[in-house]
Order: sequence, then C-alpha cells, then structure tokens
Amino acid sequence: MVVVMTPGATDVEIDAVITRVTDAGGEAFISRGDTRTIIGLVGDIDRFHGLNLRALAGVAEVVRISTPFKLVSRQHHATMSTVYVGASRVPIGPDTFTLIAGPCAVETAEQTLAAAEMAKGAGATLLRGGAFKPRSSPYAFQGLGEDGLRILSDVRAETGLPVVTEVVDVADVELVASYADMLQVGTRNAQNFSLLQAVGECGKPVMLKRGMSSTIEEWLMAAEYIAQRGNLEIVLCERGIRTFEKATRNTLDISAVPVAHDLSHLPIVVDPSHSGGRRDLVVPLSRAAIAIGADGIIVDVHPHPETALCDGPQALVDGDLRDLAHAVRVLPPLFDRAPALPESQV
Ligand code: PEP
Ligand code: MN
Repeated sequence: MVVVMTPGATDVEIDAVITRVTDAGGEAFISRGDTRTIIGLVGDIDRFHGLNLRALAGVAEVVRISTPFKLVSRQHHATMSTVYVGASRVPIGPDTFTLIAGPCAVETAEQTLAAAEMAKGAGATLLRGGAFKPRSSPYAFQGLGEDGLRILSDVRAETGLPVVTEVVDVADVELVASYADMLQVGTRNAQNFSLLQAVGECGKPVMLKRGMSSTIEEWLMAAEYIAQRGNLEIVLCERGIRTFEKATRNTLDISAVPVAHDLSHLPIVVDPSHSGGRRDLVVPLSRAAIAIGADGIIVDVHPHPETALCDGPQALVDGDLRDLAHAVRVLPPLFDRAPALPESQV
C-alpha cells in the first residue's frame, strides 16, 4: 500500500502518517520526489485499511498495490515518468528518444574525447563510459578508477554531454556520484542489494541494467530497492539476457520493453551493444528498440575498436554512425517522440 501526499504536505503531516502506521506495527518508507512525497507501507494491509489514513491532513491518495514492487509500479504512478540527467537536464521519458553513447571503457583522455565527439555527431545528448569495469576475468583491464572519472568530467566540460558511468562497489558510490551525472548499475550487480540501496541514497539518477538472468519481476524488484531508499530517478536498461543462443553475446529481450512499460512507470532504454555483442547488429537492434517503444538506447562507440581494451567487437566506428544517426533522427518522430535535447535547447 502506498500513501501519496499532496504536493504541499508538511513534515508534520508526513510524520503523522508515519506515526499512525508504526503505532499499528507497520513499517513506513518515505520517498521525497520533486513535487510530492510518497510513503510506502509494509505490513498487514487489512490493518492499514482500518487506520483511515485517507482522512489525515496532507494525504492525497491511498493506493493498494497488488504487485510485489510498489513504488516503481504503474498502479502507484499511472503516468510514465521522465528522468532528467545532468545540469542541462537531458530527459529520458515518454515524449523523447535519448541517445546515450560513448566508449565501453575510458582508456585515455584522447580516446574518450574522440568517442564523445563521435557520439555527439550521431545525435547523442548523454555520454557513457566506464571508469570502474566489472570484468569477467580478473586479468582483463579493470578501468582507470578515479583517473577515469576525472577524464569523463573533463570531456563533459569540453563537449557539454552529461556523464553516465558505472559503479561496482558500495565503497565507491559517493566518489562516483561526485563526478557522474547518472550512476549505472551493471548486469552483474543487478541483484547486489547493498549496492542498490547505496545508489538509492546517492542523490543522482540511476540507470539499472537488467540482470542477465533476471526475470522482469526481479529487475523491477531491484529497482524497488533503489526507490525504497528515496530515489525514484531510475531508468531501466534492457541489455540482453542469457539464453542457449550462441550467435549473439546475449539475447535482446525486446518484448521486455512493452512488458516492463506496462508494469512500471520508469523509463526504459535498450543497450543494443551489450545484447548483440556485434557491431553489425547494433543499428538493426536500435531500430527495433525505437519501434518497440524504448525511451532511448545506450551504444558503445570507439575511435579505434581494434585496439580497445574492452568490448571492441561491438563498438561502432565512424562509418557506422551515419546509419545510427539516421535511425535516431528519422524513426522516433514516427512514434511521436522528439530527440531528447538539454532543457535549455528545447
Ligand atoms: C557496460 O555498459 O559497460 C556494461 C558492463 O554493461 P552490462 O552490465 O550490461 O554488461
Ligand atoms: Mn562493455
């Protein structure tokens, strides 16, 4: 059950709801959004009904939610959410289509700037790039760490593109949040519940990748961990799941986009790079993502993929970007979406 407070509800009114719930043996989780506060209730729902919370001052609505995820559900929030990223407030949501692009890993300042310029030229308004890399092998390049974050921040200053970057460890959340505009939780950490809780308190938007073996419900429960800590600025990312198929790195579960959109108000982007794992599939999968109703895509680009320290085979090079740029310019308007520009340019 969720209690939605009126936009102007005071702390005293919020506390009165929490006290009534906790006095009845329940637990209340508070989530303060830009415009209104929401209180999620956990405990005996029948008992909460008897509390007549709707009658308390400052309460706009009491909503019973039957799905196991509450704050991220459509039952709780019927209209689709838009998440704004960076000082320039680049939207990710139902009215726009957002291209996020950049290198898989930050390797050098030159490589990151070159990739960011390629990304921008293709229409990207957010820059991706990993400074902390969760590699399957301990012998593989693990990322530049804080040096990589500094490079991303310099490239942001140079290009104006807000930065999306992964955090792999609870101990680094504060550090990464001090440089990044959006924190990414990767597929391998999609059920690392202490990391999810930590990014729920980081004060920055979060991109949550789907666990490679997570069901859609488990993915939304992971998002609920973030929301339950007070952060509803969450973007879901479908990045392919593990199946028996070996022709692609993962299997892009394209149907997850409308299914999750139906269950959750959170925006959803698709990662055609990590799902296909092959450069030649990135543009076709991007087209499919646009057509199925994704709110954006996140794509790997690299100036010299043959020397890339991570995921070279799936990185787009200059020559491929024309097709990507064409797809993201021409297709979204057919589905009533505009390119996602910084708020100041709209
Ligand atoms: C990435 O985006 O760099 C990444 C490691 O992705 P995933 O977690 O989806 O494998
Ligand atoms: Mn990668």
